Amino acid sequence: MARIGVLALQGDVSEHVLALGSAGKGKVQVVEVRKSGQIEECAALVLPGGESTTISRQLESSGLTEELKAAARQGKPILATCAGLVLVSQEIEGDSDSRVKPLGLMDIKISRNAFGPQRESFEADLDIKGLDRPYRAVFIRAPAIAQVGRNVEVLARVGEAVVAARQKNLLALAFHPELTEDSRIHQIFLKMLEA
Ligand code: GLN
Repeated sequence: MARIGVLALQGDVSEHVLALGSAGKGKVQVVEVRKSGQIEECAALVLPGGESTTISRQLESSGLTEELKAAARQGKPILATCAGLVLVSQEIEGDSDSRVKPLGLMDIKISRNAFGPQRESFEADLDIKGLDRPYRAVFIRAPAIAQVGRNVEVLARVGEAVVAARQKNLLALAFHPELTEDSRIHQIFLKMLEA
């Protein structure tokens, strides 16, 4: 049985655990990752939404940064959502205080508060590449992908803003697939594991 780890330093961890459990229909084991050594035992990883400054700091202090980078290099599927998206990026636009250390796993540049404070949270019907009907996505203080490199495939946009993208084994989203009943995103992620 494939083991999938959800990085459990902060954020909406339990929601991803539940969503993966139901999308995996008993064929996957989901574990919460907090300690060194656990990432190596996982076949795939989820970096949840939450507060990227907090998760970034905790990654450093837990010593998990290098293990996470190694997993990405080994080609393990990684689903990064919202704050997770900020973390996997190469660069954060206009981040002068730089309290978030982007891991540089994906060739993207992030705009952290792309939708502005007046749009703290909203829902949108997205046309996502690979899905045959619209996906109702929940955005909460969402970042957006401001720039993508050549190896990055854009999967969805809200207006001009890129909100879903894939680069090989990395699937990154500005929204929260763990907060809705629609399990199609988690299913795409599980398919990446089979491939
Ligand atoms: N804007 C938040 C951050 O940069 C992410 C918000 C979220 O994960 N819902 O950490």
